[in-house]
Amino acid sequence: MKFKDMLYTRPDENAYRQEMQALLKELEQAKDAETFFPVFAKTNTMRRHLKTMMILVEIRHTINTADTFYEKENAYWDEAGPQYTALDIDLYKIAVNKPYRKDLLKEIPASWFALGECALRTFDLAVIEDMVEENKLMSAYGKLKASALIDFDGKKLNLAQMGPYMQSTDRSTRKAAYDANIAFFAEHEDEFDRIYDCLVKVRNRMAVKLGFANYHAMSFYTMNRIGYHASDIAKLRQAVQEYVTPMVLKITDAQRQRLGLDQIAYYDLDLEFKDGNAVPHGNAEELIQYASKMYHEMSPETGSFIDLMVDNELWDLLTRANKEMGGYETEIPEYGVPFIFANFNGTSGDVDVLTHEAGHAFQTYMAGAIENPDIATPTMEGAEIDSMSMEFFAYPWMHLFFQKQADRYRYAHMAKTICFLPYGALVDHFQEEVYTHPDWTPAERKACWRKLEKRYQPYKNYDGCALLEKGCWWYRQNHVFQSPFYYIDYVLAQICAQQFFLRKEEGDKAYWQDYLSLLRLGGTKNFTELVKEAHLQSPFEANTIRMVMDKLEVWLKDMQAKALQA
Ligand code: ZN
Repeated sequence: MKFKDMLYTRPDENAYRQEMQALLKELEQAKDAETFFPVFAKTNTMRRHLKTMMILVEIRHTINTADTFYEKENAYWDEAGPQYTALDIDLYKIAVNKPYRKDLLKEIPASWFALGECALRTFDLAVIEDMVEENKLMSAYGKLKASALIDFDGKKLNLAQMGPYMQSTDRSTRKAAYDANIAFFAEHEDEFDRIYDCLVKVRNRMAVKLGFANYHAMSFYTMNRIGYHASDIAKLRQAVQEYVTPMVLKITDAQRQRLGLDQIAYYDLDLEFKDGNAVPHGNAEELIQYASKMYHEMSPETGSFIDLMVDNELWDLLTRANKEMGGYETEIPEYGVPFIFANFNGTSGDVDVLTHEAGHAFQTYMAGAIENPDIATPTMEGAEIDSMSMEFFAYPWMHLFFQKQADRYRYAHMAKTICFLPYGALVDHFQEEVYTHPDWTPAERKACWRKLEKRYQPYKNYDGCALLEKGCWWYRQNHVFQSPFYYIDYVLAQICAQQFFLRKEEGDKAYWQDYLSLLRLGGTKNFTELVKEAHLQSPFEANTIRMVMDKLEVWLKDMQAKALQA
């Protein structure tokens, strides 16, 4: 079914509650696993439908924030979401307390119980009002950023449309574009501060009510971090500082040399090559055709997947006024299909959508047989392995999108995946500091950001930019507002994806089968188990990071030479 034909109707809240409560009662009374399973399956069917309705609203609202019908429905789900969650919590409570867990494990994976236990730790009727407030604040942040209309080049542009100007080969143009972009954040500094301050306070309040020391401690449960701890993450950040930051300094210095600059400023960092970044050739239609050719040649599975996306229009790729910024992939459970949301702006980022978000979507497609909506996809760090690996697997087809500039794309893409690691660790470290000091003022938070930024990204030179010097870079980072503590997941996943890439480069023939099996597993195993199943080394081991960086350094040097020749 085409996306536009998928029918949305607001669920009848009372009817849903009554029906679900009746099933929950049956589950409560179920004396053994055999009685439990069929009723459990019915709850999954109901929950799949509910999730489908919620996601249809989410997609249609982010596609057009000015559509008043879906704006109203979005507000409804902001309010009602936690009420439905309360019913899910009752389901978990019943299931995790069954004395015959061993029998239940025959059909329900252990990871589902672990997720249930995380949910039980982070949800209580006492925090419903706080959750509603948090949802509203997150929506306010999205709306504020989507409202940006910047006067530039004689046009009124949104933040995504500013992207190409920020990579201009003309230094004064890219500086002017950067400064116009930053001016939007500076103009709304008080608003960003107010929204974030309220978010920190409401999250801290929830954490304390739920018996945690603070929201950082709670985040291990909200993020479903199963099988590793805060100390593992602190060690990982340390290893990133030790082995990746020095490598990023080298990468940035090579960039400075390529650009022929004495010093590289904040507005130079987006330009990789003096005469321009690799830009995709062709309009959105053509990019989609190339993606289709690529996925057909890559494997039979990816071929049927891309046909499904195209035939059913399961994406919205072009940037427009009133559309939310950023990109995401989501699944529409009842139809067993994915949906991709993006803001194409004519930069190489467009191709990343067709590989990264498509990687997530391919996972949704491959794990379509998993009926339990909670474990169809892995937890976040696991899910990002799927998407980030696909970005690398797509390298051999980059000549379709970039023609002669394909090596430039490959170089810049790989360099970006490495430069990202210290940034991701910084975002995580910042949030840990913020949420363990909930009484900090906005000024204290900004000072902390700037201090950590100098440690993780010592190459960032904000000379002449008051807002960034003050420590406000993170205003633009959706995740800091809308998905707290999500960032370290990208770091964990990237170190795994880079390993998949290296295995492929080194001629390890099993890498593709390992990848497919990983996708099919969905969330039926936890992150550390998935890494093992895929025959990858743990990203928590400092040695893994060192090994990956050593190999990629050699690869990058070679690729830079090729890119400069082309
Ligand atoms: Zn992703």
